[in-house]
Amino acid sequence: MAIKIDKNRLSYKLWKYFMIFALIIVGLLWLLQIVFMNSFYESMKIKEISKIGDNLVEMYKTEEFQEELISLSFKQGIVINILDQYGNLIYPLDIFDIIKQPKLNEKLFNDFLSRLYLSQENSVVYVVENERLKESTIVYGAILENDSGSNYFLYINSMLQPVDSTINILKNQLLIVTIISLVLSFGLSLIISKKLSKPIEKVTNLSKELALGNYEIEFEKGEYTEIDNLANTLNIATKELSKSEELRRDFLANVTHDLKTPLTVIKSYSELIRDISGNDEIKRTKNVNVIIEETDKLTKLVDDLLELTKLQAGLNRLDLEIFDLANLTEEVVKRFKYYEEELGYKIEIIKSGDTIVFADKSKIHQAIYNLVNNAINYTTENKLITITIEENNQLVTLSVLDRGLGIDNDEINYIWDRYYRSGKSHIREKSGSGIGLSMVKSIISAHGGEYGVESTLGKGSKFYFSIKKYINPDD
Ligand code: ADP
Repeated sequence: MAIKIDKNRLSYKLWKYFMIFALIIVGLLWLLQIVFMNSFYESMKIKEISKIGDNLVEMYKTEEFQEELISLSFKQGIVINILDQYGNLIYPLDIFDIIKQPKLNEKLFNDFLSRLYLSQENSVVYVVENERLKESTIVYGAILENDSGSNYFLYINSMLQPVDSTINILKNQLLIVTIISLVLSFGLSLIISKKLSKPIEKVTNLSKELALGNYEIEFEKGEYTEIDNLANTLNIATKELSKSEELRRDFLANVTHDLKTPLTVIKSYSELIRDISGNDEIKRTKNVNVIIEETDKLTKLVDDLLELTKLQAGLNRLDLEIFDLANLTEEVVKRFKYYEEELGYKIEIIKSGDTIVFADKSKIHQAIYNLVNNAINYTTENKLITITIEENNQLVTLSVLDRGLGIDNDEINYIWDRYYRSGKSHIREKSGSGIGLSMVKSIISAHGGEYGVESTLGKGSKFYFSIKKYINPDD
């Protein structure tokens, strides 16, 4: 059975990149050492011979010329001659055979002369192949001018030693280097990928548990900053998830409770009417009123839930308009007329400065409504509620102050969370769903504003928010 390789695996990719890297390096070495070795060697040699030749031409007619000529002649592999115009050797003279006056091979000399005269420079360098001996030589030539008019020629000849044997040695060495580097990169890539993928696999396994709803897990930190950051983020996410899960459970319990209580009341009063007070008009009306009240409570709860869903859907689209926040507050307060007229609440509005804003009127209406509603809900004997709308710098701040229960310090950070209701046991006989403040938070945040609360337990609370003041561009 063929094994299927997952080409996206970290280990496979690492292995691939390591191999490519090793192959590139080794390939470069082969290319430089073996393929270009000959031409590299040749150009080096040409440079060297040209330098020697140019140097000699410069020294010609100086006192050191002769000395330099002799010392250079002993350098291995270099033959230095000075020839006259017929190709006769002027230097070195064959002292034992002076009469013979050795001469350079005519063909070679003619070739040498024509190249020298054709070249634009004063000197010439070229490579001559000897087919028969399978040898190459570098020839350097330059004209040494004499006063008499008959010039001499500097003729340098250097063998290009074959580099084949060196290349063979290098080939063997490179083969070993290639094998070692391939084995090393294979091994190293395996080790590194194991080391890298281990913590990732750990995080993956823990995340799977998280997905299954286990919030007790803790993502551990390890050797790598990136993975530590990931672990940190996942730990925060786990905490948030578990908090929201807890709140969701609480909410469900609260809502079920809040739904169940009025339903129980409605059922028992309906039974009462059916069995006992059906014919007694006064009693029946009283009982029906209870049923109506409870139905109202239910309607409100359902409305709240609907409102929240609507708000969540509409928050990324704000219908901005210019309006006076103080006027809007007055409108909101009118909705609580019943509380003022019948239940003894007093809501006062204090306004100072320019309170025009550019915001989504209906959403801000909802935010103020929720704050006032809470103030009424959580106030005790002192039923005075003070709403202040004031301008400060570029902002307009609205605050709702009550003299009621206040909030425990332990709870103050959680009340803005969705579904959070004070006293988890749901002891307070207030009909709330724990979404009022989270709505305020979402609305004000969507406007880029600030919100907060200052509260003293038993004394009361001041909830506030600030949004940007409208600045008329013509002012
Ligand atoms: P709800 O009022 O429906 O429970 P909210 O989101 O409006 O939900 O408020 C969350 C919690 O914050 C409340 O359960 C309550 O404990 C606390 N809270 C809100 N407003 C006040 C207030 N004015 N005074 C005291 N506690 C408050």
